[in-house]
Amino acid sequence: MSQYHIKNLQEYLQVYKKSIDEPETFWAEIAEEQFIWHKKWNKVLSWDFTKPEVKWFEGAQLNITENCLDRHLITRANKTAIIFEPNHPNEKAQHITYAALYEQVCKMANVLKAKGVQKGDRVCIYLPMIPELTVAILACARIGAVHSVVFAGFSATALATRINDCNCKMMITSDGSFRGAKTLNLKQIVDDALVNCKDLETVLVVKRTGEEVQMEIERDFWLEELLNEASPICPAEIMAAEDPLFILYTSGSTGKPKGMLHTTAGYMVYTAYTFKNVFQYEENDVYWCTADVGWITGHSYIIYGPLCNGATSVMFEGVPSFPDYSRFWQIVEKHNVNQFYTAPTAIRALAKEGKNYVEVFKLKSLKVIGTVGEPINEEAWKWYNEYVGKHKCPVVDTWFQTETGGIMITPIPYVTPTKPTFATLPFIGVQLALMDDEGKEFKGNQVAGRLTIKFPWPSMARSIWGDHERYKNTYFSTFKNQYFTGDGALRDATGFYRITGRVDDIIIVSGHNLGTAPIEDAINEHEYIAESAVVGFPHEVKGNALYGFITLKETPPNFNLEALEKQINTLIATHIGPIAKLDKIQFTEGLPKTRSGKIMRRILRKIAENKIDELGDISTLLNPDCVDSIIENRLV
Ligand code: ATP
Ligand code: MG
Repeated sequence: MSQYHIKNLQEYLQVYKKSIDEPETFWAEIAEEQFIWHKKWNKVLSWDFTKPEVKWFEGAQLNITENCLDRHLITRANKTAIIFEPNHPNEKAQHITYAALYEQVCKMANVLKAKGVQKGDRVCIYLPMIPELTVAILACARIGAVHSVVFAGFSATALATRINDCNCKMMITSDGSFRGAKTLNLKQIVDDALVNCKDLETVLVVKRTGEEVQMEIERDFWLEELLNEASPICPAEIMAAEDPLFILYTSGSTGKPKGMLHTTAGYMVYTAYTFKNVFQYEENDVYWCTADVGWITGHSYIIYGPLCNGATSVMFEGVPSFPDYSRFWQIVEKHNVNQFYTAPTAIRALAKEGKNYVEVFKLKSLKVIGTVGEPINEEAWKWYNEYVGKHKCPVVDTWFQTETGGIMITPIPYVTPTKPTFATLPFIGVQLALMDDEGKEFKGNQVAGRLTIKFPWPSMARSIWGDHERYKNTYFSTFKNQYFTGDGALRDATGFYRITGRVDDIIIVSGHNLGTAPIEDAINEHEYIAESAVVGFPHEVKGNALYGFITLKETPPNFNLEALEKQINTLIATHIGPIAKLDKIQFTEGLPKTRSGKIMRRILRKIAENKIDELGDISTLLNPDCVDSIIENRLV
């Protein structure tokens, strides 16, 4: 039995049991079999959640890029590592082999060194979804520099905050970026940000859009010119298992983003192992994750996980709506994608445009389709299953966080039965618990509570950069000796998990705890509703009442507001119960979202409470414009 590639439910149960009973033996075997090390560990795991301190594979020495690149040169040198699909379909796709990627990474690593970057230095990467982004990340890892990727679309202020928070020494950016029909001048945003970042010494600029940019003498350099001079050989820096690999800021749905610090060995082992199993990746498959590399999903499941497995990973520069809403499906057919991984927000956006864009595509190559980022509502799940998966591809609803590094709750396709809105079972090695408010664990099934993790897993974040106290307070103080996720979940009669939303968003109506996800799920069942967000507002009798913000796919024929509202509440009453009926319903053009596409309920909550002056920072929203009109039309 190969524990590395789980093939049936019985094996999952066996391997899971082993991973819980003998975690150290289990992870040591995976680490031993599947990776190359300069030196093996002395101790597999030491941990203390009260500090908190977690160390995996202590004493080991390695470089993650040797596992992503060098070792494939023997058997996969000419295999495609990255398929780059540009924003515009008329621009030719690039197939970058492992050998070519290796060479580019070594060259860029030498450029970083020549510009004074040393092991442990932080490098900010602010690039569009182009191959140089992957190369830059791996080049940092090659020399032991800590990368901090910031989603290229964040404002100058958001960028400056992130640069200063971890004192980045260098910036790697591009002149501009293409996104659909638009071009964004990234270098200008960087210039604006750097006015407030005095410690940053060097800016390397990739040429992508060709637009005019300002180059500051002695600070800014065209990367291409430096690469031309650079040697294609760069020995990998030898890293300790717990040396920092990267910092990544959370998307900020609940407030000020946190700079999560991830380290080397455990992260590598876990992301590679989850990738292989969650997508049932086979040697010649083509895998595509549509997330931006600026999010944890992109780090773990576009770059590190796939490359550690010698996989072929598609990197798409553009957006799902350009040149039209069939772009994703065109790409799937063009590159014969076998595993497709996207976010519920993208599925809902595409479903809103109708099935015509997808129906015409056979999508024969697809074997597994996945989602991540938010609870997926049942209607979106079914649409995805029917029109994309054509009823033959398991839908893997994967739950994880920037903090967890890798996927934690997920079906294993063709192994775990799937169930709409359920992320199903814990992944190998993951020990979940559901807790009540007093800190007692709910045992058995058919229970709901706060989701925690009781035992360390290899890819967990080790700290918040520069603020270990905050790390401790945020994740390890609510429940004793447990990692608190901040999410609520339920476990059904068969032991399957469903994420019910963020705990901060739980609304207590007449003494009942209501999660947002199941209510929104019920609302979204309506054939004319595209998306919804439910929040609470104070109510004299019930304590709190529910306020729903709803976007329509299109106006229903013979539109009658009262009738529509009634239909919505009937759906809620049927699926959840009359207790969860909405007191207020506001139809809106859009819902405020983070750049990673998550609905920001905290803003809607303030609007529902009529506390308009307490919205907080909305500059990092994807669509700040929609907030004004929601405020204007609010129901008070
Ligand atoms: P912040 O922590 O700054 O508020 P964030 O939580 O949005 O930001 P991420 O780490 O990108 O930042 O997102 C993780 C969160 O996304 C999870 O805690 C959960 O709420 C949600 N999530 C991710 N995947 C799923 C899923 N499959 N089902 C339900 N929720 C999910
Ligand atoms: Mg979070």
